[in-house]
Amino acid sequence: MGQIINGKARSAAIKEELKQKVAGLKKKGIQIKLVVILIGDNPASQTYVSFKEKACKAIGINSEVQRLDKDVREETALNLIKKLNADKNVHGFMIQLPLPKHLNERKLLDSIAPEKDVDGLHTMSMGRLVIGKEPGFVPCTPQGIMDLILSTGIEIKGKRAVVVGRSNIVGKPIAALLMHQHATITIAHSRTQNLGAVCREADILVAAIGRAKMIKADMIKPGAVVIDVGMNRDENGKLCGDVDFSAAEKVAGYITPVPGGVGPMTIAMLLKNTVLAAERKS
Ligand code: NDP
Repeated sequence: MGQIINGKARSAAIKEELKQKVAGLKKKGIQIKLVVILIGDNPASQTYVSFKEKACKAIGINSEVQRLDKDVREETALNLIKKLNADKNVHGFMIQLPLPKHLNERKLLDSIAPEKDVDGLHTMSMGRLVIGKEPGFVPCTPQGIMDLILSTGIEIKGKRAVVVGRSNIVGKPIAALLMHQHATITIAHSRTQNLGAVCREADILVAAIGRAKMIKADMIKPGAVVIDVGMNRDENGKLCGDVDFSAAEKVAGYITPVPGGVGPMTIAMLLKNTVLAAERKS
């Protein structure tokens, strides 16, 4: 039976550490502020943004949500970004994705000042991540995943890692981070042939697909570290991951649950990046 990697507990510990740092900066007269831009009325986005607000409050970061109408003109959104770039009281800000179709996501993300890009999705941040050792911001979900893998204490160097999914938010950056830790990487995606055989080679398997319970127990190498990024609804409407957890935990060495695995880490890393942005500025 695999050991459960408890993302909820790990994220609580990180938040406690950050709370001390926030208090320390406050003593120096620095009140950290994070702004989230929320465009439109996507219910999932609204929920995520309210989680972020709550998390900020819990550790003493001021948070503000800038809401824009779903039909907002791109220019209006760009003007808001410009204003936040120039606002000395704002240490970091992010745009909640996905955006309404008429907006150019890349253009908006790349308008954020790189030193305030706490979500780490600016082209500059992504480039710095690939180069490594550059002081950018690592996107939150992959940064959280890496923390969880390291928390198992396994040696990553020389291991085979398979990442299923190649999105800019999860798949590509986690592959880069694992490569920096000297793992040998395979990135699989929807055109990958014989996915089961590819996954079975993995000492570390990261599933970032968005398909409920697609990774079955027979696709997992016994003893592997399995990180489930997926957030899906099963046939009964219950939240579940990309991995068929109940069968997979019998084969894996370590495994993240959904909920309570990667999800809480994403928010913890947003807070971490925001504190980092303030520290760099101080
Ligand atoms: P995307 O939809 O952007 O990417 C999904 C990836 O999975 C694509 O690369 C796609 O391949 C690949 N894929 C789809 N179907 C298959 C298949 N049958 N076999 C192999 N690969 C496949 O998703 P995201 O990366 O944004 O998110 C992935 C999941 O993680 C979602 O469930 C999302 O909700 C969740 N998520 C969770 C977060 C958290 O905090 N817990 C944060 C971010 C995401 P191709 O490129 O060929 O289309």
